[in-house]
Amino acid sequence: MSNNKTLNEKIDEIFNKLDRKHFLDEEFKNYAYLDRPLPIGHEQTISQPSLVVEMTKALDINKDNKVLEIGTGSGYQTAFLAEFASEVFTVERIEELSKKAQKRLKELGYENIHFKIGDGSEGWPEYSPYDRIMVTASAGKLPDKLLSQLKTGGKMVVPIGEETMQELFLIEKNKDDDIIKKSLGFVKFVKLHGQYSWGE
Ligand code: SAM
Repeated sequence: MSNNKTLNEKIDEIFNKLDRKHFLDEEFKNYAYLDRPLPIGHEQTISQPSLVVEMTKALDINKDNKVLEIGTGSGYQTAFLAEFASEVFTVERIEELSKKAQKRLKELGYENIHFKIGDGSEGWPEYSPYDRIMVTASAGKLPDKLLSQLKTGGKMVVPIGEETMQELFLIEKNKDDDIIKKSLGFVKFVKLHGQYSWGE
């Protein structure tokens, strides 16, 4: 960690710097500081701040890492990733959400984020492999396409399970390309749509 800061100190600094209000529509700005998910339109949600922090910590990002994020949403989690990584590639299937997130993140001065509108269950193969992958919507099973775009030695955080509840997993691809799964607890995310998630 640069400047001898611990991961917790750096996360706290980013948490205090990023005003969650900036990532919300006018009618929800008053609720920005509640530790709960909030609507962002199109039946999607901005994630709960404590979960954003937990997922960012679990991904253990280095400043030279290239990170793929699936589900840009409001762009709030994307900003955390951009603070830790060298480059972030983020995919969102709903055009209006992606455009809003792009505007917000540009206003904040981020220049290391690349946006794509499309089916993130396919990943973003053109720029693979990635050191880290963050999935912010729930998959029915571990998405093969994303796993194949993860570097040897890479890490992925992904919620997997039923629509009503999922288990959040930290996936590690070790030096022999074996997959190691660690449960981080139970969560409730919106569904990861797409061809390589639930086979839609
Ligand atoms: N982390 C985001 C934030 O802080 O605002 C919240 C993400 S929200 C829980 C999940 C997002 O995943 C939604 O914006 C949804 O449209 C998107 N999504 C669902 N399926 C997708 C897919 N196949 N490809 C790309 N984005 C997808």
